[in-house]
Amino acid sequence: MIVVQKFGGTSVGSIERIRNVAKWMLDTQKKGHKVVGVVSAMSGETNRLVDLATQLNPQPWSREYDMLLASGEQVSVALVTLAINSMAGAYQDATTQFVPRARGFLGHQLGILTDSVYSKARIKGIDVRALTDELDRGVIPIVAGFQGVDVENNITTLGRGGSDTSAVALAAALMQAGARDVDCEIYTDVDGVYTTDPRLCSKARKLSRITYDEMMELASLGAKVLQIRSVELAAKYKVPLHVRSSFDPVPGTRVCSEDSMLEQVVVSGVAADMNDAKITITNLSDKPGLAFDIFEPLAAAAIVVDVIVQSSATDRDGSLNLSFTVPKLDVPRAIEVVERRLRARFPEMRISSETDLAKVSIVGVGMRHHPGVAAKMFGVLAEAGANIRLISTSEIKITVLVDAEKAKIAVERLHSAFDLDKTQ
Ligand code: ADP
Ligand code: MG
Repeated sequence: MIVVQKFGGTSVGSIERIRNVAKWMLDTQKKGHKVVGVVSAMSGETNRLVDLATQLNPQPWSREYDMLLASGEQVSVALVTLAINSMAGAYQDATTQFVPRARGFLGHQLGILTDSVYSKARIKGIDVRALTDELDRGVIPIVAGFQGVDVENNITTLGRGGSDTSAVALAAALMQAGARDVDCEIYTDVDGVYTTDPRLCSKARKLSRITYDEMMELASLGAKVLQIRSVELAAKYKVPLHVRSSFDPVPGTRVCSEDSMLEQVVVSGVAADMNDAKITITNLSDKPGLAFDIFEPLAAAAIVVDVIVQSSATDRDGSLNLSFTVPKLDVPRAIEVVERRLRARFPEMRISSETDLAKVSIVGVGMRHHPGVAAKMFGVLAEAGANIRLISTSEIKITVLVDAEKAKIAVERLHSAFDLDKTQ
């Protein structure tokens, strides 16, 4: 079996932890598996780099910003590789060449090809030949997560949490190249996926299984335990995912397809996200193509729009309001993009933004067959005194926007109301 093992920032956060990671990979190899390591920057490092850049330039997003951020993973790759080689010693192969037990690879050295959208690049393809060559001669390739390279050889990064996506993309590419038995293990500082963020709610419970669809919703709604793109890729290529602890070898959470679930619960998780802001545009008039004119340039600017609400045109003056959420970081650019496209046509248009908001969501595949879930959610929020600012639903999730200060109580109350609390 090929096991892709991804270790997050905390898991490689110190010399001691790096030794544990090295030992864990060697032990996995000893069990007869081929191991591919993927590592993130040591915890705190990416934030440190972001801080350095923003001190010099408040809007640093650029080619060199990605070049800077990608350096954190280079350190981890080198250290983990050094640790393995020191622990295991190198061996001689048939041609009595020196063969290291592990070799480190940066994104460009493995041809992890991405598009050129800096800071949120998407992987387009990986040529796994170099990787399989290493695996075939018993070497553990240690790959830098979070980074790739575009066609012009510029270093790109995949967005926060991007190492998860690097790991899944490598697993998927190996499967595409014909590898039969591939498992992708995501090692982190919690021992699995919980019903809600265990750091926010002490009653959170570990799930033994969750479907790709549910995990995708949870990830997109703020459960940063897995980057959303990694779950999308895993679902698309049916990559078996196992989220588990790098501190404790207990089984974690399997992310799998719906048909391998034993039971369907109505709600399997609650998520909160404080990273979105709401942009409201007022004094628009109702014309065909208006929404296109707003959202097309936003998409072209690679700004992810989530909840969208449009008020219906009123009879009296026919004016129309539209609200949507975008990541807080993207607010200035989003406003600029909309201004540029619409100001000439709507001189009266007003744009405002609010940032003290939280997106709170419930997710579960069982919602499909259970009426009344939304009503129950709204009732719980009313009782918690949380005013609902926007609502958005899909087949398996309901999201509301509430004031940030209400997020914690909203999550706790929903968690209890939908029977997710730990049974003591
Ligand atoms: P890593 O550095 O290993 O990638 P992350 O910080 O990105 O780790 O992700 C792990 C964190 O995700 C946990 O520490 C936890 O606070 C947070 N988290 C949010 N929602 C959940 C959830 N539903 N289940 C587990 N962890 C969650
Ligand atoms: Mg992460």
